[in-house]
Amino acid sequence: MVRTAGAAIEIRNVTQAFRSGGDDLPVLDNVSLSVAPGELVALVGPSGSGKSTLIRLLAGLDQPLFGSVSVDGKVVKSPDPSRSLVFQDPTLLPWRTVRGNVAIGPQARGVANRSKQRIDEALELVGLTDFADAWPAQLSGGMAQRAALARALVNDPPVLLLDEPLGKLDSLTRRVLQGELLRLWQERGFTAVLITHDVTEALVLADRLVVLSPRPARIREVVEIGLARPRDQSSPEFVQLRARILALLDEEATTPPDELEDVH
Ligand code: ADP
Ligand code: MG
Repeated sequence: MVRTAGAAIEIRNVTQAFRSGGDDLPVLDNVSLSVAPGELVALVGPSGSGKSTLIRLLAGLDQPLFGSVSVDGKVVKSPDPSRSLVFQDPTLLPWRTVRGNVAIGPQARGVANRSKQRIDEALELVGLTDFADAWPAQLSGGMAQRAALARALVNDPPVLLLDEPLGKLDSLTRRVLQGELLRLWQERGFTAVLITHDVTEALVLADRLVVLSPRPARIREVVEIGLARPRDQSSPEFVQLRARILALLDEEATTPPDELEDVH
């Protein structure tokens, strides 16, 4: 596999709302963010603030009500393998082996035969070579999530979108996969947007951390992390930064929203 050049992401004045019982439920309020090619940006914010809504717009699964999302200058209009999305739930097809699941993208594009080597390489990248012929039901949570990552990486995406990909894993597996994710990002060079609940995870991995307000999400603060990797979680700088972000999130959680909450 060749190293992929990451793409530039431009989120410009994005506002999103959903219809909810006849009313509009505002979810994103004028969000603007630029992500540089090859950058790893983490998004943190209260549950229900609109993080998944935002990443779905980046993936092209939905369209914003106002504003635009573009990647390398092209407006995102539909999903594309160049912008792979990995969810919390690995959603492997149970009737396909691990290799069969990783082959889904190349098969859909009619290039499965000539992608055989690439599929093997993707399995190797995530450490699943020995489990290529296993069935999803035989995998641990961590292994299933590795398979989901391989399924995304086989497309050599310039953009990898990660919606709490490690959220359901036990803390030990989570730590291991954080290291793997960091290695993959460093090796492959893609641009990554990572949603996480875990401030420590965001601080271990990201170049910048974006703190969102409660719904409707606005960008509350963008923090340049600026610590050398691998990051020492016990260093005073790390501890201080973590405390600052947690305080920001706490403040967000206790600040009453400036509009009436819906009662659903
Ligand atoms: P987060 O990922 O930050 O937890 P989401 O983006 O999933 O939050 O959801 C934000 C809000 O938008 C929630 O109140 C959710 O119920 C609502 N929402 C998300 N998707 C839809 C949809 N397709 N239709 C209606 N409401 C939605
Ligand atoms: Mg979510």
